[in-house]
Order: sequence, then C-alpha cells, then structure tokens
Amino acid sequence: MRYLVGKCSIYLVWEGCKRYAETLEEAVLEDFLVRDTFDRKIDYLRISVTDRCNLRCRYCMPEEGVPSIGNGQELSFEEIYRIAKVAVEQGVRKIRLTGGEPLVRKGLIPFIERLCQLPQQPELTLTSNGLLLAEQAAELKRVGLQRVNISLDTLDPERFAQITRRPGLDRVLAGIDAAEQNGLWPLKLNMVPIRGVNADEIADFARLTFERDWQVRFIEFMPVSGGLDYPPESRFPAAEIVAALKSIAPLQEIARQGPAGPARLFRLAGAKGVVGVIPAVSEHFCGKCNRLRLTSDGFLRPCLFCADEIDLRTPLRAGCDDDELVRLLRGAVQIKPERHRIAEEKGNIPARGRKMQGIGG
Ligand code: SAM
Ligand code: SF4
Repeated sequence: MRYLVGKCSIYLVWEGCKRYAETLEEAVLEDFLVRDTFDRKIDYLRISVTDRCNLRCRYCMPEEGVPSIGNGQELSFEEIYRIAKVAVEQGVRKIRLTGGEPLVRKGLIPFIERLCQLPQQPELTLTSNGLLLAEQAAELKRVGLQRVNISLDTLDPERFAQITRRPGLDRVLAGIDAAEQNGLWPLKLNMVPIRGVNADEIADFARLTFERDWQVRFIEFMPVSGGLDYPPESRFPAAEIVAALKSIAPLQEIARQGPAGPARLFRLAGAKGVVGVIPAVSEHFCGKCNRLRLTSDGFLRPCLFCADEIDLRTPLRAGCDDDELVRLLRGAVQIKPERHRIAEEKGNIPARGRKMQGIGG
C-alpha cells in the first residue's frame, strides 16, 4: 500500500512539473511573438516565390503576362530561406507560399523541404492554380507540405479558357484529385465569383461539399489595378454570395475555432464539407489580421491593400546580418496600418504598380 501511495505521489509530482514546464515554454514563446502597435500578434508570413504564372486570369494578369522581374531582382531561394528562418525565429508560426504560380518555379520542392526542417516546424501551406499539381503533389507531401489551397473559378472547360485565357480545367481537376490522394488535406478550393461571368456557378461549387469534405471558399472580387478586364461593378458582394448559398439548403454558420482566418464558415444542411465566404472588400477583418507579405523581389508588405513596403533585398545583398533582418522585420510590423482604406478608395484598390500576382494574393 505504502509503495502504491509513494508511486502515485511521484507520478503526480512528475505531471505537475511537466505542466509547469509546458506553461513556461508557452510563456517564453509568447514573449517572442511579434505584436504590432494595435496589439495584433503577427505570426503568419505569405511568401510570393515568383510573379510568373502559367495562366492569365483576367482579374489578375494582363494578357501579355508581366515583364518578368528576372533573376537579378527575384530573390533566390537561399535569400527567401534566410528571411523565413529569421521570421520563424521571431515567432512566425505559419508560412504560405504563393505567387504568381508557385509550382512554376524550379527548385521549389527542395526549398520547401528546407523550410520544413526548421526546428520551429512552422505550418507550411501553398496556394496554387492546380495546373501542375498532379505532377507535383506526391513530392510536395513527401517533403513536408501540409496542405494546399487550389484556385478554381468555373467547372466549365470553355469558361475556364475564357477566364484564364488558357485551356486546362481537366489538369486542374486532376491536380485536385492528386492533392486529395496524397493527403494534402484539408483541401480548400478558392472561387472568385464575378457578376456576369461565373457568379451563376456559386451553387454548383457549394454543392461539391455534399459529397466531399472540402472547404469551398468564395472570395469577393477585389478590383486591384482597376479590376483589369472586369470593372469594379462586377464585384459580387459577400451578402449576395450568402443569399445564393441559402437558396440551396438551410445554412448553418460555424463558430470560429483557433486562430481566426478571414472566412466566415457555414455548413449546408447534410453536407460533408463546409463553405466559406471571404468578404475581402465589403467588410474588413483588419482587426484580426496576423500576416505580413514578402514579394518575390524582396519587399515586405505589411498590408495587402496599402502601398508601404520595406526593402529587404538591398540590405540582404549588401551582406546584412540577422540582427539587421530582425530590425527590418519588426519595423514592417510596426508600420502595419490599423486597417485598409478600400471604402475611401471607392473599392478601387491602390496597388501602386503591383498587380495581384506581384503582391502574392
Ligand atoms: N496562382 C495561384 C492561384 O491562383 O491560386 C496563387 C496566386 S493568386 C494571386 C492567389 C489567389 O488570389 C487566387 O485564389 C486568386 O483567385 C486570387 N485573386 C487574384 N486576383 C484577385 C482579385 N482581383 N480579386 C480577388 N481574388 C483575386
Ligand atoms: Fe495566375 Fe493565380 Fe493570377 Fe490566375 S490568379 S493569373 S493563376 S497568379
């Protein structure tokens, strides 16, 4: 009996110590996380690894593409890795690779593998148009990518070619299958409904969640650079998206869990998956914004919709040390605005020379 009581006390003391150590570790981590002047914890970095793309979506890119910023100006993977490593040491816990189309850049897979080996093990995700995913999904998973968001605006092949100025719906669908089969999960589909173009497909996309445990998200069209081929009036506001969803089946809003992303999430009655609405323009979720963006030519952008940028490429190439990078990173966090001013800009978002693929949407 005395033996059992003794063993039990040792166990309880051990559990107590473990919990104390965990609490201490959490507190230390919290200390290192970067907070901005509005007390938001900035722990998410979106990295544009290239501004090039194999599609030409009419709301994102001009037909002729973008004059490639070329090897001279584009950050090398070594340079991006240095920035990411310092950011992670400063408390960044999630990294999303985007572009342009990230899968067109050679050397992406070994780069992802290195990021995954960082001791802090940041969550690593990627946004892709899916065209090259069928070929790359297995390797992406093998080196440690956790999940992927796939952008798709129509389920009709002709319309796909019309919106993206390229054929390829079948390849995107194969990419979605490959992502699922290789466990890049949970799978998120991003659709941008545009009035008079594809907004009539909202219900078809939402119905996919009856059969599939996906998150199908509808992103309000943002008229960056004047909207390129689609005028600002083609924006299909979040309220209308929700109304379209309600016409399919009863819609239940899902309470947010964990760190809040920008999407309002719902489940259609009887569905396996969920639908999300991202009111990028009509509402702002700036109060919860936790992100910084790194452009492919090496500028830190504290807000998607504000023109302020901090040049990291020049100091990097002048041989700056990690302390200088920390200072610049913290500087970017400190100038992060309280909120964007799209309403004042009458919905026409100032991108100041960059298009969406250049900012890393
Ligand atoms: N090429 C990849 C892709 O399409 O997923 C990654 C980069 S793309 C710029 C990232 C996301 O931004 C896509 O989901 C795309 O639909 C979205 N996007 C681009 N321009 C947009 C705009 N003007 N309004 C709303 N979303 C936009
Ligand atoms: Fe390319 Fe993505 Fe822009 Fe379409 S939305 S042109 S796929 S970067």
